[in-house]
Amino acid sequence: MTTLLLLPGDGIGPEVCAQVRRVAAALAPDIRIDERDFGGCSFERHGVPITDEAVAAALAADAVLMGAVGGPQWAGAPRDKRPEAGLLRLRQEMQVFANLRPALCFDALADASSLKRELVAGLDIMIVRELTGGVYFGQPRFIETLPDGQQRGVDTQVYTTSEIERVSRVAFELARGRRNKVHSAEKSNVMESGLLWRQVVTSLHQRDYPDVELEHILADNAAMQLVRAPTQFDVLLTDNLFGDILSDAAAQLTGSLGMLPSAALGEPGRPGLYEPIHGSAPDIAGQGVANPLAAILSFEMALRWSLNRAAEADRLFGAVEAALAAGARTRDLGGRLTTVEMGDAVLSALKA
Ligand code: NAD
Repeated sequence: MTTLLLLPGDGIGPEVCAQVRRVAAALAPDIRIDERDFGGCSFERHGVPITDEAVAAALAADAVLMGAVGGPQWAGAPRDKRPEAGLLRLRQEMQVFANLRPALCFDALADASSLKRELVAGLDIMIVRELTGGVYFGQPRFIETLPDGQQRGVDTQVYTTSEIERVSRVAFELARGRRNKVHSAEKSNVMESGLLWRQVVTSLHQRDYPDVELEHILADNAAMQLVRAPTQFDVLLTDNLFGDILSDAAAQLTGSLGMLPSAALGEPGRPGLYEPIHGSAPDIAGQGVANPLAAILSFEMALRWSLNRAAEADRLFGAVEAALAAGARTRDLGGRLTTVEMGDAVLSALKA
């Protein structure tokens, strides 16, 4: 039996995940949904942001979908007990090294973008960001005090051939199912790890993916092109640091944070981790006004990339598109629908 592990988490996480449950029950009632505490609420109940048992449940599931973790009440907790530590542990244990962040502009929302409609209409970019390597994890990293009393902070940007190759493979495979084009962004002009990145991507492309169009682009130019002419991109492959920045810039092109899903994938056959890119939104938590579409679209990605249910994923995507086209808008999109009413709108589009 197919199992989806739900980790609703904190703040608006449980509110948006409740709508995922309703959609899943209507669309794929045979999928078993399991649930565990995660983040601050797990810390309150179990003294840790994620229990060993919850990690084991995640590894045993076919896919994991989380809401969001964190909030001001846990900001003072010891670093290893904070909600974010639970998320880092989960990503590491699941070995999810490829972060997929679609930046997709629904036609009905093109006017909500900070760019002109004509620049974002039809936008459909998949950013593939390396998630478990690079400068966020490289050693050494420290802050030291120098003899003259100054301090010096050091981080290390480091990538191996296999780390670059496995994430690049994900990008090329994805491109084949889309518009068949990969832009690979790095700084090979000024960074050794960037030069290696370019070499590894080039040789993998020649060896296994010559049918896919490949263009190398410097990461700073990629940032500029994303706001100048974003529809030129199909799949944008990049490292952890540049991916962090470029995917946030791309997110802004599409309107609201409440609309954006993501996936983190490991080796084929292992469970993927799906999550809306927004946080726990403490400012609106408990009010029932959060937009559940980022979570619902994260479920759509889980259906497609981990659960082998492309037909259901297409139906769900169509239902979200139809609900938006019919004018369904939560507050972040300039409307008045509650979280549950947006769930209703998707459900009725699914039934139509
Ligand atoms: P946030 O994404 O929670 O909120 C930013 C703004 O966007 C807020 O005004 C919020 O109300 C709004 N917003 C976010 N999601 C929305 C939705 N679905 N519908 C309507 N409006 C929405 O970011 P933040 O305020 O910087 O962080 C709040 C907490 O979330 C922090 O504790 C942070 O550490 C945590 N966080 C967690 C994750 C995660 O779980 N992956 C990601 C980012 C931030």
